[in-house]
Amino acid sequence: MISGQTALYGLVAHPARHSLSPKIQNQWFSEKQIDARYVAFDTQANAREVVQAIQTLGIAGVNLSMPYKQALLPLITELSSTAQLIGAINTVKNQNGHLSATSTDGAGFWQAFKRANPNQPVQQLVVLGAGGAALAVIEAAGRAGVQQVTVFKRQNQTFAQVQAQLQAISRYHDLAIEVVPYEATARLATALRTADCVVNATNIGMALTPGLPIESSLIDQIKQEAVVVDLIYAPQATAFLKKWRQRQLVCQNGLGMLIEQAALSFQFWTDQTINTTEMYQQLMEEF
Ligand code: NAP
Repeated sequence: MISGQTALYGLVAHPARHSLSPKIQNQWFSEKQIDARYVAFDTQANAREVVQAIQTLGIAGVNLSMPYKQALLPLITELSSTAQLIGAINTVKNQNGHLSATSTDGAGFWQAFKRANPNQPVQQLVVLGAGGAALAVIEAAGRAGVQQVTVFKRQNQTFAQVQAQLQAISRYHDLAIEVVPYEATARLATALRTADCVVNATNIGMALTPGLPIESSLIDQIKQEAVVVDLIYAPQATAFLKKWRQRQLVCQNGLGMLIEQAALSFQFWTDQTINTTEMYQQLMEEF
């Protein structure tokens, strides 16, 4: 029952109405008998207006998605080391106007990976793309036992900046990270042949941007013991995953990451841990 005490949480993004987060978070609030509700705030307000709304209305916590993950960061009082290293946040907590924030994307990715592949150590990791999600996965990789990351990225205006960011992550976590343009095809082929896990962290494979992130012949170079992961979960199987599945090999989409990063956001707000098993079953049935 909603009362005068009910705490309000939400997703701030544009677009936001398609999001599964309200369904996920409200179910957990109900399970844990916490007097709170989670809604989708589909807005195009600027970052300062969003922060003012959170503080003025006493919104207890928010998740952020496009285009706010980077834009809100400079306005937050207390940032986790993860947020500082990747330059992005997806979870904000409001305690009487004091805003603290982190990103749960990277830890969520590795939690989902280990759940799906408990016996697959990853020492060599290849990441395709170097946007916000890629940086989150890489920043958390050292904690997951990864020793060497090779990142492939377009040689565009963000190359130098992303390279500097990855160097900082490399130093902080003592993790070997190399950023290589896709044009270095021989380097790409070698990295794919030795990788224990290959992650598509680009937008390529979504409904509006279909296709493969790398050429089909390069995908054939990936060793068959490797696990291939696409961060995309809609469609459930991108062209990249379908191509890998043709060889009956192990792959995973982004649904597990979605659930686990949500559980870590819930924990950040409430200090309560979530058993995610039921949510996996529900969402897998729905998808
Ligand atoms: P982002 O910051 O906008 O980054 C997009 C990435 O895609 C960049 O690395 C960009 O490459 C690459 N890219 C875009 N168009 C490309 C093209 N034509 N050719 C090659 N590369 C291209 O977005 P993001 O937040 O990191 O999200 C990336 C993907 O992860 C999206 O599909 C998103 O849905 C998914 N995601 C999933 C979850 C989950 O919970 N499962 C969470 C977050 C994100 P360059 O760096 O080379 O420019």
